[in-house]
Amino acid sequence: MENPEQIFTYLIARAPKGVCDDCLARETGVSPRQQIETIAGALGLTRDFDRSNSVCYFCGSEKLVTRSLASANET
Ligand SMILES: [Zn+2]
Repeated sequence: MENPEQIFTYLIARAPKGVCDDCLARETGVSPRQQIETIAGALGLTRDFDRSNSVCYFCGSEKLVTRSLASANET
């Protein structure tokens, strides 16, 4: 799976939980870390994702997190 696709799929599976770049890197195994910023930043520009300062679901820190706005229940 390509890195952008991996992050995309990962965030949708965790929707609507917000995940910070560090945790995304660890959870998806995508490296280098700057790639996460690029990919998550691009996703954050779309209407299906939100990228803002919030509490990360994994580490509990308040930082820049990315979340999918798509609902898993949506058909
Ligand atoms: Zn985190």
